[in-house]
Amino acid sequence: MKQYERKTENRIFIVLFLLLAIVSSCLMYFRTREEPIQRIIDVTEEVSFSISMIPDYNGVPYAEINGNVPFITCEDTEEYIRFSEFDELGRCGIAEAVIGEELLAVNERGSIGQIRPSGWQTVRYDDLIPDKYLYNRCHLIAYELCNINDDARNLVTGTRSMNIYGMLPFENMTVQYIHNTGNHVYYRAVPVFQDEDLVCKGILLEAYSIEDNGEGLSFCVFCYNIQPGIEIDYQTGQSRRMDYQIEKQIPLEKEYVLNKRSMKFHDPDCEGVLTMSENNKEIRIATREELLSEGYTPCGICNP
Ligand SMILES: [Zn+2]
Repeated sequence: MKQYERKTENRIFIVLFLLLAIVSSCLMYFRTREEPIQRIIDVTEEVSFSISMIPDYNGVPYAEINGNVPFITCEDTEEYIRFSEFDELGRCGIAEAVIGEELLAVNERGSIGQIRPSGWQTVRYDDLIPDKYLYNRCHLIAYELCNINDDARNLVTGTRSMNIYGMLPFENMTVQYIHNTGNHVYYRAVPVFQDEDLVCKGILLEAYSIEDNGEGLSFCVFCYNIQPGIEIDYQTGQSRRMDYQIEKQIPLEKEYVLNKRSMKFHDPDCEGVLTMSENNKEIRIATREELLSEGYTPCGICNP
C-alpha cells in the first residue's frame, strides 16, 4: 500500500512538472509573439510613425516625414547610445543616441566584412553601380557619429544608393553641426521592415539639436532602400535588373542580310538588299554585336 502511494505521488509530481513546462513554454511563446513584427513605432502617445506614412518613391533618395519635424524631442544632454536587440527574424531595431563631441568617431575604422545583416547578399551590378556592389552594411547610427563600427545591432542590409545619397548627407550635416557648435543632438534611426521582410524598406532618420531646441539642426526623413535600375525582393534580399534593363542588356537575335563583299549588314526589307548580288548575300540570324565583332558595319540606309 505504502509502495502504491509513493508511486501515485511520483506520478502526480511528473504530471505537475509537465503542466508547468507546457504553461511556461506557452508563456514564452506568447511573449515573443507580442513583439510586433510589423514595425509600427509608437514614438509618443500622440504621434506615431507607420509604414503608411512613407510616400511612394519618386526618384529622390529620401522624403520628409511629418513635415520634417522629429517625432520626439529630448532635453537631456547626457550622451548615450542604445541599439535594439535582434528580433526573432534576426533583424535590427531602433537605434538612438544623444551625440556630442565625445561620441564622434576617433578610432581607426576596422573591417565589418564578417557581419551578415538580415537579408544580406553579396551581389554586384558592375555596369549599374559605380562601386559595383548592390548592398552595403549600412550603419543605423553612422560610424562617424558614434565611433562604433562593428556592432551587428547597428548594421542593416542597405543599398549603395541609400547609404550614399539617402543617409550620408544627413549624417554629415549632423557631424558638422556638432563640430561647429559643441552642442548635443538627439539622433534616432529606425529601420522600417514590412511584415516579415528581411531587408528594410528604408530608414527613418531623425535628429534634433538639444541646446538650441532644434534651431540649429532638426530633421525627420525617410531614406529609401532602393537602387535605381534594380528590383529588390525585400523578403529575401534577392535582386534583379529591372525589365527595361534586361531588354538593354540581353542582345536581341534577329534576322539580318549580310553583304560579304561590302561587309555591311541590313534589315531584310532594306532596299539595299534588293540590288545585292546573290553571290555576296548571306542571311543570318545573329545579334548586332556578333556581326560587329566579325567586322560587319551597319548599312547607312536601314540603320539596323
Ligand atoms: Zn540597308
